[in-house]
Amino acid sequence: MALLVKNAAVFAPESLGIRDVLVVGDKILAVAEGLTVNLPELEVLDAQGLTLTPGLVDQHIHVTGGGGEGGPVSRTPELMLSELIACGTTSLVGVCGTDSVTRSVEALLAKVRALTAEGVSAWMHTSNYAVPPTLLTGSIRQDLFCVPEVLGVKIAIGDHRCSFPTIDELMRIVSDIRVGGMIAGKIGFLHIHLGNLPGGFDVLNEIVDRGIPIRHLRPTHCARDKAVFAEAVRFAKRGGVIDVTSGGSCFDTPAGAIRAALEDGVDPALITMSTDGHGSIPRFNAQGIMVGLGTGAVSSNLRELRSLLKMGLKPEQVLPFVTSNVATQLGLTGKGVVKAGASADLCLFDAGFELRHVIAKGRVLMRDGEMLSKGTFEE
Ligand SMILES: [Zn+2]
Repeated sequence: MALLVKNAAVFAPESLGIRDVLVVGDKILAVAEGLTVNLPELEVLDAQGLTLTPGLVDQHIHVTGGGGEGGPVSRTPELMLSELIACGTTSLVGVCGTDSVTRSVEALLAKVRALTAEGVSAWMHTSNYAVPPTLLTGSIRQDLFCVPEVLGVKIAIGDHRCSFPTIDELMRIVSDIRVGGMIAGKIGFLHIHLGNLPGGFDVLNEIVDRGIPIRHLRPTHCARDKAVFAEAVRFAKRGGVIDVTSGGSCFDTPAGAIRAALEDGVDPALITMSTDGHGSIPRFNAQGIMVGLGTGAVSSNLRELRSLLKMGLKPEQVLPFVTSNVATQLGLTGKGVVKAGASADLCLFDAGFELRHVIAKGRVLMRDGEMLSKGTFEE
């Protein structure tokens, strides 16, 4: 199948001006001015007045559901494909969370594969909050080598629900990730759920001081607490990538946290945003008893993208936080960019930054605001 998108204002995410984008199969074949194409069954999409961007990349979604802090009734539901299409997310990394008993990593792998078959591109981090890690094969190195979808290992620190691992335990885990990554031809990440207890970044800084390259450490929820955020800014200034959860922050909005990091002088290339979609957002009282529960939405990256645009930032400044920065930092070649040879994952927005069309791996999943594809069990 071939698709020619005509006359879009292209943000690749850098601004390219008005361009045509030719998609053949699941790849972008050309991005150029005034393309003339002669191909059988070529579909032409008039994008005059529309903004074309890479499909969004979300590196933290509880695709099999999360939660459980308030018993079985508080387990959050599974993600459905249409939720991703509705917010322009075409690539994602699935994760598990607090519940290491009823949410298996095998189920996570199955869901990641299902989403990939349904039309988007999906990867995962193995394990959950706990130490020792919960693995597919019994070994971090083998999970990384044997399972193409596994990019790293998840863990929680600085949280009352974490396993409070010692620094030596963490060093061994990160070292296995580093060597497993080497053998598998991946970067290999420790994806870190940071809670609001003090000391989380002290541990990460010590791991780096002891000789582990900082790129293997990927803290998330970096702006849910002012003290944690201040440490995150310092971590970024020594070269670490920091991830801000668009579902909620200690600032007025998560976009406000991004702006604060930029004003503080953090290299924009080291900032990413993820939604924590389908994760639970439990509220605990001073006695540690759960008193309320919310659920993260996968649409929050798009919402905060719009907030940053309203603050006066340009699309080419804001888009990398949810596209190219995430893909580059995860080593996902051909994702999060609009260029010849890249994956044909595209969003087209109107002047109000509302989604008009979504294309994933060359397939049009939303046209003129209408969903053309749904998950296997969606009505
Ligand atoms: Zn989460």
